[in-house]
Amino acid sequence: MKAAEVLSDLKRRFPNEPEYHQALEEVLNSIEEVYNRNPQYEEYNLIERLCIPDRIFSFRVSWLDDKGKVRNNMGYRIQHNNAIGPYKGGIRFHSSVNQSILKFLAFEQTFKNSLTTLAMGGAKGGSDFSPRGKSDKEIMRFCQAFISELWRQIGPDTDVPAGDIGVGAREVGFMYGYYKKMAQEFTGTFTGKGLSFGGSLIRPEATGYGNCYFLEAMLATRNMEVKGKKVAISGSGNVALYTAKKIMELGGSVVSLSDSGGSVVAPEGFTQEQFDYIFELKSYGGRMYEVPEQFPELKYFSGERPWKLVKCDIAMPSATQNEIDEEDAEALLRNGCIAVSEGANMPTTPGGIRKFQEAKILYAPGKAANAGGVATSGLEMAQNSQKISWTAEEVDHKLRQIMSNIHETCVEYGKEKDGYINYVKGANVAGFMKVANAMMAQGVL
Ligand code: NDP
Repeated sequence: MKAAEVLSDLKRRFPNEPEYHQALEEVLNSIEEVYNRNPQYEEYNLIERLCIPDRIFSFRVSWLDDKGKVRNNMGYRIQHNNAIGPYKGGIRFHSSVNQSILKFLAFEQTFKNSLTTLAMGGAKGGSDFSPRGKSDKEIMRFCQAFISELWRQIGPDTDVPAGDIGVGAREVGFMYGYYKKMAQEFTGTFTGKGLSFGGSLIRPEATGYGNCYFLEAMLATRNMEVKGKKVAISGSGNVALYTAKKIMELGGSVVSLSDSGGSVVAPEGFTQEQFDYIFELKSYGGRMYEVPEQFPELKYFSGERPWKLVKCDIAMPSATQNEIDEEDAEALLRNGCIAVSEGANMPTTPGGIRKFQEAKILYAPGKAANAGGVATSGLEMAQNSQKISWTAEEVDHKLRQIMSNIHETCVEYGKEKDGYINYVKGANVAGFMKVANAMMAQGVL
């Protein structure tokens, strides 16, 4: 195959899906060589079967708001690939959600899940419903309406959803509750559940903590550590806050956090008191612009992302896709950034990635660095099926081990002749090989 030709054909057949095209392009370019070394893949046209999702469900979700008005949103579930295990991937509730974004996320998820070495296929779902500003009861009614459409398509051995942007423990609880009622069963469908009904300890922390463990492994390849480093983080949701917590535990300083309104920076690092306040503020839906009201020494920049605002050694984008563009990447490099480890999915644009790789800094794509979240979801599924609960220490230990294994795999497949570790290539090739070989063994489906 020629990556450029496959991509141009897929772009023609699936137009107006820029995020999906972007994710395809990154993967196709990195696997082209290994794909062409295995002519049996081409004989079975494996590349198209891997790029095009197995199936897509899309549906209208109608629900009643608190004033009794009927509201309509779109709902989706993309079941991308189940060659190595049941479909698995989060659900995103955000006004920006559309089919292109979910297709890119489901495609990426397939490679990420393969990298974890656990038996999980790739999927993603969501809605253009935004929980922000809605009451708990509105969110509950929406979640129930969403699941009333989706429940037939999911199940513990079929498709296991989880959280993502806008979907945390509250939303998972409402969706799982309604699923359980409709399916009349109590099993491991959904991960990220509350602890009293099958959730796993460390699942809320896992994506952020896992990213820090991956970062530690990357830094170790250059005899460096987190201690004493300044770390810029974007976002202030689940991934960002637990990343920040662990960075501070490891002796690093967190110099920024943000939300979709803007960023708060602390050039010398947030104090524990400031961080605890932000953590609390975000737990009840507060906004970053409120932070300087409590701590006037902290500056808020409306409408700005953190990357040009503050010097850092390390950047950990943890909000959303395409939040570091080429200019941001240049600014980070100019300010001495030596490592980027992605908590969010596809937060760096192709131009930004090029800049990081040309500068030969440590750069880990989300599908490797943030895989700790889904890996711990895999551990939740394992606990559910055995009807047992592991301690926090046990789960954290397994998470560390998985992140270390993913790092080693990336090094094995991504080390270039000059010794530079191309983590993008390493993650894509390793993720691809496992799924491709399983697909070959299972015939044309
Ligand atoms: P949350 O909803 O908990 O937090 C998202 C954060 O990002 C919020 O601070 C939000 O700000 C900000 N944000 C969202 N959209 C935008 C936008 N368009 N522009 C600027 N800021 C934005 O989500 P998570 O922390 O769970 O997810 C963050 C990222 O991590 C996503 O890319 C997700 O796919 C990825 N991820 C999450 C995993 C998990 O386990 N949760 C696992 C692996 C990856 P605001 O509140 O203003 O919207």
